[in-house]
Amino acid sequence: MTDITIALSKGRIFEDTAPLLKAAGIIAQDDPESSRKLILSTNHDNVRLVIVRASDVPTYVQYGAADLGIAGKDVLLEHGGMGLYHPLDLNIARCRMMVAVPEHFDYESAVKQGARLRIATKYVQTAREHFAAKGVHVDLIKLYGSMELAPLVGLADAIVDLVSSGNTLKANHLKAVEEIMPISSRLIINQAALKLKRDTIQPILDAFSAAIDSQP
Ligand code: ATP
Ligand code: MG
Repeated sequence: MTDITIALSKGRIFEDTAPLLKAAGIIAQDDPESSRKLILSTNHDNVRLVIVRASDVPTYVQYGAADLGIAGKDVLLEHGGMGLYHPLDLNIARCRMMVAVPEHFDYESAVKQGARLRIATKYVQTAREHFAAKGVHVDLIKLYGSMELAPLVGLADAIVDLVSSGNTLKANHLKAVEEIMPISSRLIINQAALKLKRDTIQPILDAFSAAIDSQP
């Protein structure tokens, strides 16, 4: 059997992926939330999981350090997708990429008046394309987290961030004013690995597809 490495991040991606892996007959030997191991063996001698930062998953797969990975569309758009196939939308870790502003900020008027907006975000590529397509002039400020803070302390007029319940925005007196796109996680495959290891990868792909189709 060919050896297969699957790159995953902890947290919501692992939680939502574990049932899909199980449907493919793959069960991790350790829980990444409690274990400090970065390489997890599975019930299959030839399949291992590597636990990496969510935004690093495409990089591991691009360079073939992992054959497969699971990454959010948000992360894939920033990465660019070089060397990757993304054959499957797994429909997990769903949320929306949105523009948000302080509760009392009139975003519509600012846009209509052609104001130049300062936007803080982790997603600079996606934000740049979104505002360019709308014809809105923006200065983008790259952040690595806690975007909600930026408008509260005068770092930015608006943020581009992922929103699911909206509770974090509300708790920080922000409101979502525009949806950029819906986000979910995708299975990604190293292009060379798919060719060289198709015998091992295809059954995993098929099991994932079947598991998604049978989801409510
Ligand atoms: P880190 O927390 O290590 O900085 P991260 O924030 O990218 O990294 P997670 O918060 O686990 O890691 O998010 C991983 C992926 O889950 C994101 O890339 C996105 O696709 C998805 N995601 C993020 N926030 C939400 C959310 N609120 N609801 C559903 N899915 C989300
Ligand atoms: Mg996070």
